Amino acid sequence: MPDPRETPAMQQFYRFKQRYPGCMLLFRMGDFYETFDDDAVQISKTLGLTLTQRQGGIPMAGVPHHQLENYLKRLIAKGIRVAVCDQLIDASQAKGLVPRAVTRVITPGTLVDESLLEGDAPSAVAALLLEKHDGARKGEQPAAALAVADASTGDFAVLAVPQHALVDELARRGVRELLYAEAAAPDATPAAAKSLGIASTARPAWQFRPQESREALTRHFAVATLAGFGLAGDDEATTAMICAAGALLRYLEETQTLSAQDKAGIPDGLLTRGSLSHLRPPRREGPAQHLAIDAVSLRSLEVERTLRGDAAPGAADGTLLSVFAHAGCGKGSCRTPMGRRLLREWLVAPARELPEVEARHAAVATLVEDRRLADQLGTLLSNIQDVARIGGRIALSRATPRDLVALARSLAQCHELTQALANTPALAGVRESLLRVATHLAPTAADINRLCVDEPPAHLRDGGLFRDGIDANLDEARLLQRDAGAWLSEYQATLIAQHNLPNLKVGYNKVAGYFIELPEAQARTAPPELKRMQTLRNAERYTTPQLREFEHKVTTAESRALEREKELFLDLCARCAALTADIHAFATAVARLDTLLALADKARHRGWARPRMSAVPVLRVRQGRHPVLDEALPGTCVPNDCELGADPAARQAPCPSLALITGPNMAGKSTYIRQVALITLLAHAGSFVPAESADVGLTDRIFTRIGADDALHAGQSTFMVEMIETANILHHATPHSLVVLDEVGRGTSTLDGLSLAWGIVEHLARAAEQSGPRTLFATHYHELTDLEDRLPGKVANLHVAVREWPAGGKPKDHDGHSEIVFLHRILPGRTDQSYGLHVARLAGIPKEVIARAREVLASLAVHHVGETVSAPPAAANGPRPRRKADASRVPAAAPTVGPGDQLGLFKEYLPHPAIEALREVKLDSMTPMQAFDALRKLHDMAEEP
Ligand code: ADP
Ligand code: MG
Repeated sequence: MPDPRETPAMQQFYRFKQRYPGCMLLFRMGDFYETFDDDAVQISKTLGLTLTQRQGGIPMAGVPHHQLENYLKRLIAKGIRVAVCDQLIDASQAKGLVPRAVTRVITPGTLVDESLLEGDAPSAVAALLLEKHDGARKGEQPAAALAVADASTGDFAVLAVPQHALVDELARRGVRELLYAEAAAPDATPAAAKSLGIASTARPAWQFRPQESREALTRHFAVATLAGFGLAGDDEATTAMICAAGALLRYLEETQTLSAQDKAGIPDGLLTRGSLSHLRPPRREGPAQHLAIDAVSLRSLEVERTLRGDAAPGAADGTLLSVFAHAGCGKGSCRTPMGRRLLREWLVAPARELPEVEARHAAVATLVEDRRLADQLGTLLSNIQDVARIGGRIALSRATPRDLVALARSLAQCHELTQALANTPALAGVRESLLRVATHLAPTAADINRLCVDEPPAHLRDGGLFRDGIDANLDEARLLQRDAGAWLSEYQATLIAQHNLPNLKVGYNKVAGYFIELPEAQARTAPPELKRMQTLRNAERYTTPQLREFEHKVTTAESRALEREKELFLDLCARCAALTADIHAFATAVARLDTLLALADKARHRGWARPRMSAVPVLRVRQGRHPVLDEALPGTCVPNDCELGADPAARQAPCPSLALITGPNMAGKSTYIRQVALITLLAHAGSFVPAESADVGLTDRIFTRIGADDALHAGQSTFMVEMIETANILHHATPHSLVVLDEVGRGTSTLDGLSLAWGIVEHLARAAEQSGPRTLFATHYHELTDLEDRLPGKVANLHVAVREWPAGGKPKDHDGHSEIVFLHRILPGRTDQSYGLHVARLAGIPKEVIARAREVLASLAVHHVGETVSAPPAAANGPRPRRKADASRVPAAAPTVGPGDQLGLFKEYLPHPAIEALREVKLDSMTPMQAFDALRKLHDMAEEP
């Protein structure tokens, strides 16, 4: 028996398999895409397909061809890369082996087809080159070079990132797949990819070499030097960026275009696979262009997803993004996918340069004031579809008829947009970009609209994209299909008249095809031009060259019509492909306009105010509201002020740049500090803000840390994570940063937590010798409020007002204790209760438990007061002494780990004797046996009570 792996088809399979290493190969055979060997095992496991065996025991599993997209989506979601190998001609027409080719390579980071992309969400692939740790310059964080591209739009950027910020950068840019140089080590998967759960793909190390990368880039972009892309010089950082960019380019070429190897052996015209002409040269990004918000802060501020929500980015309600995502209405949502992507980008990476921020504000202001203009632009924009991605698909020869028509209709708005913007200085930049491309785009758009039907088919294979009457060949082919019957009766009439044969019939049947029939009696008078083809009992059948030609035309008419449509389609696509750069410029201008309009709609609809930006690190918000709360419960959000740092020019009383916010649980502390952070973020994004007025000093970073939010970090000690992140803040906050800390220290014991919180506040307050970082610290450790006295002028106490109904007053709860009402109003000054028991009771903790807790609290408070000798901190309940004098006792230069006096509470914890014994052990002079004995002794001591 011949080896089943030696059949021509399997040989062909193995050739492709070898050419696309690391890809699952879907091999078209008849109506199925089949997988073999390990691929089959993998696909049957991941997608639950039935595993069968081809003859000879080769494992095999297949998916029906019409469900391919569906399965591709699921494979991509599992991070699997797939090569789709198609039959290039119908198997029935093939003599011998069917010619096949890999027509698509689909990887998680390089999706371009509308059916595979996740709505408007960004989708990018990145190549990473890590700086070696030993190569790192002294005292500096080791860096990483990153090249990021979006295959669907052609966006391409290079940048250097400190390695600790890598995860943030990848998350911010929507990277779905990370390429790295294959290393000798077996598992070199970058930690960043693992922690983000994105696909990682090892690439041959040589592709990351400087020489090879330079070559790949200069060849592709047809330039002599990379200097024009900001990649001149051969310093370490630039070289690393070039290497990453080169490796990324090779990957895109490999996955998106047809290799020479593949081209060979495929007959001309059977396969078109596009070029990467839409890929723009790598744009080198500097470090300081954006207000940096790390991934943790983005999460705690719920910019893209809520803390609890596991929904896809943007989908979850309650996010900042969702405030701008009310579908289809003019209340602050984008009209185009480009706008939605840009709005997300502005929110996760707001601007940091004053001119850009203010230009956005000015444009928003104009659109808020000029309602007619806004409405007009809104109408025009809502006719524009995802031109950015359609442009990409056209370049890659993956566009559908619908893409083409959508593109033309979108481009047709260009002219009117420029007219609408004629007298709007704040949007002059957008208008200029549109004007620059309008004349190039208009003729092509007009032609497409003239040639194509209004409701195009989903696939070209169905036909029907082009209108009747625009092409003689196409019309003829269609006419034949439609009007075969009419032609036949016309032909019949002609023949009858010509030859005077009244009984002549022209007919058709499946077996004989088209024929001319004469009754036997008239057959003798048949003119010679009728060629006999068949003799029936009472009749003769004939044909003519004309009829044969007609038959040929009709039977091939359908395929000729399709062929012709394909030609016309490719022709139009080629014309669009030549306009790739202009289409991109149009998409960019539209994205900006759309985003600004959405911001303006929101501002007008909710009465948001234009923030005043300044270079001084101040933050002054009057009557600010939380944007999400304001959206969810309009009118019920209690507005609050905030004042951090002072503007020397404004000659105000100096205002501390650190505020401590205390108040009971559920009072609104977290809401308040997030609100201030979100207002800062929005202002930098270019938006107006939910406040009566706001002065916002330019900010370089927003840091947010929430104590012990365990939901987020499964598998790690939450306290450890909390401290790592806090350490990061303490190391990296600058005078221009905004730091928002919520209940830091909650993740450990009260005493530890309080001490740490104390130390952290002191550190941040002292760092702010002149001004900044502006810090908001919400805490339920009301003991911290003493810091206002100890660090005068540096710390301001704020508290959340609570109305307490005294016991015996009204209303009163059933066991005679006081009721509280949360007013959500932030006021100066401190709070001295945590109201924990009130909240517990509101939450439904049983009455007896609350009563017992009250007893315990009372006894602890007494104990507490009794034990502390030097300076009693606040009892958890009851009046607290004011202790202005205490400030002197904590040495200003050496911050204590916490309010030292607190230790009194735990004096009963004397050191264990085992500790003493351990101290005595002389490690250096011990033999291993002695060491073991000592260890046993210590162990026994530890066992004793
Ligand atoms: P805390 O952090 O003090 O425990 P939160 O900030 O979590 O309190 O607020 C608790 C709840 O109070 C929130 O879910 C919100 O619905 C409501 N709330 C907070 N601040 C306000 C406000 N300014 N206006 C109206 N409701 C508010
Ligand atoms: Mg809170």
